[in-house]
Amino acid sequence: NAPVVSNFIRNIIDEDLASGKHSGIVTRFPPEPNGYLHIGHAKSICLNFGLADDYKGKCNLRMDDTNPEKESDEFVQSIKDSVEWLGFHWDGNVRFASDYFEQLYGYAVELIQNGKAFVCDLNAEEMRQYRGSLTEPGKNSPFRDRSVEENLDLFARMRAGEFPDGSKTLRLKIDMSSGNVNLRDPVIYRIRRAHHHRTGDAWCIYPMYDYTHCISDAIEGITHSLCTLEFEDHRPLYDWVLDNISIGCHPRQYEFSRLELLYALTSKRKLQALVNDGLVSGWDDPRMPTVEGMRRRGFSPAGIRLFAQRIGVSKGENIIDMSVLEGAVRETLENDSPRVMAVVKPLKVTLTNYDAAVTASRSAPFHPHHPEFGEREVPIAREIWIEQDDFAEVPPPKWQRLTAGGEVRLRYSYVIKCEEVVKDAAGNVVELKCSIDHDTLGKNPEGRKVKGVIHWVSAEHAIQAEVRWYERLFTEPRPDAVRGEDGEYVDFRQFLNGESLSTVTAYVEDAVLKAEPESRFQFERLGYFVTDRHDHQAGGKAVFNRTVGLKDSWSK
Ligand code: ATP
Ligand code: MG
Ligand code: MG
Repeated sequence: NAPVVSNFIRNIIDEDLASGKHSGIVTRFPPEPNGYLHIGHAKSICLNFGLADDYKGKCNLRMDDTNPEKESDEFVQSIKDSVEWLGFHWDGNVRFASDYFEQLYGYAVELIQNGKAFVCDLNAEEMRQYRGSLTEPGKNSPFRDRSVEENLDLFARMRAGEFPDGSKTLRLKIDMSSGNVNLRDPVIYRIRRAHHHRTGDAWCIYPMYDYTHCISDAIEGITHSLCTLEFEDHRPLYDWVLDNISIGCHPRQYEFSRLELLYALTSKRKLQALVNDGLVSGWDDPRMPTVEGMRRRGFSPAGIRLFAQRIGVSKGENIIDMSVLEGAVRETLENDSPRVMAVVKPLKVTLTNYDAAVTASRSAPFHPHHPEFGEREVPIAREIWIEQDDFAEVPPPKWQRLTAGGEVRLRYSYVIKCEEVVKDAAGNVVELKCSIDHDTLGKNPEGRKVKGVIHWVSAEHAIQAEVRWYERLFTEPRPDAVRGEDGEYVDFRQFLNGESLSTVTAYVEDAVLKAEPESRFQFERLGYFVTDRHDHQAGGKAVFNRTVGLKDSWSK
C-alpha cells in the first residue's frame, strides 16, 4: 500500500487525539440523492472513508434528503453501489436526514420557545429585499417580534398543512446586520407539498440544508465534519444552531477545496442535463465522470483511490487534468490486466507458404511479469488479421512495421515478409500476401535483423467483438467556464466532442471468449479495454469498451 500523505485535516485529527479531545473519529459522507456520484464525490468519499479506515474510526453514509422533488430511491441505490464499488464500508445502516425529521422539528420548537426562531410571512421576493447585500445591512422582518405563543401556534399549523406552499417560513432570529449574509435570520423551514421518497406525504414542511446538516452530524456523534470550501461562510451558522439547542454534541466543520477535473463536469445538475437531453446514453455512459460511468469505462476502484491520494486535500485550488486520473488508472491496470491481442482496423494477410511445417499454435503468457496469470495458446492459420496502421506502402523514415518487400515479426510467432500488395479498383490496399520464414520461431532470422514486432490474430480463430472507442466528452478543458462576448457563460453543451464515441468491429483472440462482464484486458499495443458491464455476454456477444490508451495521449 502507498504511504499515507499527511494533510491539514490529518494534522487536526492527530492533535485532537493527542490532546484527548476525542478518543476516536467519526466522519460521514453526506450526498443528496438527487443524482449519481461523480469524481468530485469520489474525492470526498476517499477522504472521509479513508480517514475512518486509517484511524480505525467510523464513517457514516448519510443521504441528505431534504429536497423531495429532486430525490429518488434510484439515486439512493446508485450512491450505495458506488461507495461499495470504490471499496468502502459505512458504519451500520445507511442514515437518512429524513429519519431525523421529528427530532429536527422538536429542536425548531425549542428554538421558538427560547425566542430564537419566528414564523415569517414575507414571500421570497420580499425576503430578498429585506436581506440587504454584501455591502448593505438587511432589515428586520415585520414579523420578527411575534410572540412565542403565536410562533408556536403558527409553526404547528404550518406542519398541519393549514397554509399554502411558500406562504410562511420559519426563520432563525440572529442578526440582520451581520456581515455574513448566512446569519441574517436564515430560513430553516419552508412549506412544500411534495412527495418524499421515504416519508411520503407525512410532511408538508421541510427543513433547510444548513439547519439539517449540523443537527444530523450532532445526532450521529460526528467528530470531524468535512465539506467543501463553499460552506466556509456557513460554518458560523452551523455553530450557532448547535450552540442554541439542547444537544450534547458539537461536531467541528472543516472545509477543503472542491475537485475540478478538466474536460469533465463536476456538477450533478449539469450531468443531469446531459442525461435529460440524450447527449449521453445515461448516468453510467462510459464518457461520464460519474462513478458508474467510470466503472463502465473500465476504470478500477484502486485507480480512482490512487488518484484521490495523489491530488491530495487542501484549501488551495484543485483543478486537475484528466491525464492525472487516466495515469493513475493506467498504473493500476498495468499489473492487474491480462494481455491479449486484438485487431481493431483489420487488414487481411494471407500466409502463402502456410503448410504442415508451420507450428499451429504457441503458448504465450498473459502477462510478461506475472506468470501467475497463466498462459494461453495463440493459434496461427493461413489467413490472419493485422492492423491497417501496421502496413505502409510508402513508409515514413525509421518505419519498423510492415512494408512492401519488408519483414516483421508476428508477436509470439514467425517472421513474415510481404511479397505482394493486393488492391481494389479504387487503389485501396485490401490484402497482403506474405511468406513465413519457418526458421524464426523463438529465434532471430539468419544473417539479418528484424526489429519490428506487430500484433495480429488468426482470422479462423479470432472472435468478433464490438469495440466502443471512447474519447473525451468535451473539446474544451473547462466547458462550463467559457464566457461569450456578452460576458455570459456559454452553454457547455456547445463543447461536446462529436467524436467521443466510435464503434468498430474488432477481431480478438478467442482466449477472451469466456470472459465475464467487467473483465479488464490490455490489448497489446492498443490500450486497456473492459467487457461491457451490461451488453457483453460471456460466450456470446462480445462488447469491449476502451478504457485508456497505453501512453498518455493528453499531453503532447
Ligand atoms: P453537486 O454540485 O454535484 O450537486 P454537491 O456538493 O451538491 O455536488 P452533495 O451530494 O451535496 O453534492 O455532495 C456530497 C459530498 O460530496 C459533500 O460533502 C460535498 O462537499 C462533496 N463533493 C461534491 N462535489 C465535490 C467536488 N467536486 N470535490 C470534492 N468534494 C465534493
Ligand atoms: Mg449539496
Ligand atoms: Mg448540489
